Amino acid sequence: MSNSILVVGSLAYDDVQTPFERRRRVLGGAACYFALAASLYAPVRLVGVVGEDFEQSDIDRIERKGVDVSGIERRPGRSFHWSGRYDYELAAAETLATDLGVFGAWKPQIPEPFRDSPFVFLANIHPEIQLDVLDQVRRPRLVALDSMNLWIDTQRDALAKVMSRVDVVSLNEAEVRQFGRTFSILRGAREILELGPRALIVKRGEYGAVLFTKGGSFWAPAFPLEKIQDPTGAGDSFAGGLLGYLASCGDPDDAHLRRALIHGVVCASFAVERFSVEGVEQLTRERAAERYRALRDLVTIGAEAVAEDDPFATVAAG
Ligand code: AMP
Repeated sequence: MSNSILVVGSLAYDDVQTPFERRRRVLGGAACYFALAASLYAPVRLVGVVGEDFEQSDIDRIERKGVDVSGIERRPGRSFHWSGRYDYELAAAETLATDLGVFGAWKPQIPEPFRDSPFVFLANIHPEIQLDVLDQVRRPRLVALDSMNLWIDTQRDALAKVMSRVDVVSLNEAEVRQFGRTFSILRGAREILELGPRALIVKRGEYGAVLFTKGGSFWAPAFPLEKIQDPTGAGDSFAGGLLGYLASCGDPDDAHLRRALIHGVVCASFAVERFSVEGVEQLTRERAAERYRALRDLVTIGAEAVAEDDPFATVAAG
């Protein structure tokens, strides 16, 4: 299909602990959050691996959203299992345990019919595997990647190499600082853009997200929420909204990238409102569109911003 999105990454069972609640073995994984969010906008093809313990009913949940799940392999062994904890800030997760299971030795084989997908999302996985996936796909229109602190620490060169081969890099603020070995996200962003990607997206949790391109930057706030249940998957749902929107308009130019950033923020806001994938699973196009408009109103000053009686309107620049 001409606007299909291929996603390659983890499918998991997560144990999640917040100061308010604890849940065990809930459906998660980067590719799962991404696929559920992106499927709201465009056809999604998921390539992932699960073990014998993965419930068929959970694959059915993903398929019910229209995701092509024929690229999910089932292997002897256990599914990827991640356990994490958040404090009252509900910001970065503290990883308590990671049990890779069948995900550990997995080398994704992209099914032939998926290799011509015009949009590709390389979810957080070993950068050498991301490179291997890039070698299997045929001239996609846009490729985006996500990564994590572990790979910045241990696989910096391989990660820099993948960054140089993709169009959009999506990292959180701490990861950009870590990659650039700097406090400044502006300097970190410049260093990443110099590697070659067209855009860098910096996710800033409750403070929103920033889009950096060679032409400048665009700063979006997060959607203000009174209640957050589970921050897990915010980043992947964000990427789902972003790539989903870009795929739905077909032409990923800079103006579309700005709007896509807002769709990313919208999807992330739904993801964190509910536990596990429920927020993105239950999301509809109407509710996403409504929140998109609400977010736009939050940052629009309005025509009165340039009113003639505004003393600053006539202050000369420079
Ligand atoms: P996010 O909160 O968007 O960064 O992503 C959370 C999801 O990533 C969880 O559902 C985890 O199952 C998954 N995850 C955690 N660690 C890893 C890892 N090392 N590799 C792949 N996926 C992971």
